[in-house]
Amino acid sequence: MEITFLGSVGEVGKSAILVKTDRARILLDYGIKPNDEPEFPAHIAPKDLDAVIITHAHLDHSGAAPLLYMDEGPKLYSTSMSLETCEILLEDFLRLSGYYVPYEYLEVEYMLGRARRVYYREPVRIKDVEIELLDAGHIPGSAQVVVNADKRLLFTGDINPIKTRLLNGADISQTDVDAVITESTYAKEAHHDRQELEKRFIEECNRVVEDGGIVLVPAFSVGRSQEILCILVARNFKHTISTDGMAVKLLDLYLRGREFIANYDLLEKVRKRVNIVSGKRERKRVLEQPGVIVCPAGMLKGGPAAYYAQHIANDESSAIFLVSYQIPGTPGALLVSEKKLMSNGKEMPVKARVEHFLFSSHAGQKELQALLRSFNPGTKIFTVHGDGDSCEVLANWAREECSLDAIAPSLGMTYEV
Ligand SMILES: [Zn+2]
Repeated sequence: MEITFLGSVGEVGKSAILVKTDRARILLDYGIKPNDEPEFPAHIAPKDLDAVIITHAHLDHSGAAPLLYMDEGPKLYSTSMSLETCEILLEDFLRLSGYYVPYEYLEVEYMLGRARRVYYREPVRIKDVEIELLDAGHIPGSAQVVVNADKRLLFTGDINPIKTRLLNGADISQTDVDAVITESTYAKEAHHDRQELEKRFIEECNRVVEDGGIVLVPAFSVGRSQEILCILVARNFKHTISTDGMAVKLLDLYLRGREFIANYDLLEKVRKRVNIVSGKRERKRVLEQPGVIVCPAGMLKGGPAAYYAQHIANDESSAIFLVSYQIPGTPGALLVSEKKLMSNGKEMPVKARVEHFLFSSHAGQKELQALLRSFNPGTKIFTVHGDGDSCEVLANWAREECSLDAIAPSLGMTYEV
């Protein structure tokens, strides 16, 4: 088996891995780096591929895949939830991208027309290869990929082994493999205890709202918004909870995919309990009374959250609670580091309280290390999907602490397993 890394090497973004066996050529993910001007992974000709597997719908794993469908294109395999989420995210990406994107919605349609829905743990034959998707616990529908051929390879995709309110933790039962490609996002950072974090988050929401303020929680529409809503409802938050924008669309999609949700009854309760906001008039009304508003964008790059943030920024009794990692250069990162918001092209100081609660959907350092410890000594490990030196740090740790044959691969390089 040969593995070539076409992206996501030493960075988060452009996930793309080519796996070659005697007879099959399979591409695992084909994502972009969603900067202001999106970056694409190394080119690959669709005619050279037997299949494409998409681990999950985030654009850094799926955003370049439509490029392979200018013509007929290879068969694509993913979970039904990932395919439906891809449709929503790719359409949104094409509509909002201010930059030239080298494909159109027509290619997204071709791609989805070539897609086959795969269940978790359902074996799928591609020439001399059998693939299997395992729950990755990252967003609804997310998968790891097991590639079974002369050798056995596990690609984690983005993974979270910890059970959350919305999702079951990742299926980490497949440890008897020859090689592993693992994400490294939080190789250097341990997460807070989830229960403690939830408790503190609810306490702080209560404090602000009971003093007459509004808590804005900017959160990604895919998974994170619904997770925060589940936390509020599960912990019996008594005051008004509102949600808005794409988060509602995804909430309704998740309600149609019971098998991908850990606690479906809780999600149904969320839909009944939460105030769904749409349109300008309702947005104004929501700002007139204390409560929590959960909506995208998670880093305040547009979406209803950017609108609400402008309106509560000067209110000392209100708060903005960020709940995900904030990429440097985004409005969310500026808010966390300098307590400022951009307004009409100028940086404006924010009087509302600003806090950062990291409800991550990725394995933290402890979980990544536990995952690596579960493989047999000598197993080949490739560390990808990490910024700065995270991939090297994880590979070094795996070599020294677990006697694993670990490396952080180089871009474009091919490795034999
Ligand atoms: Zn992801």
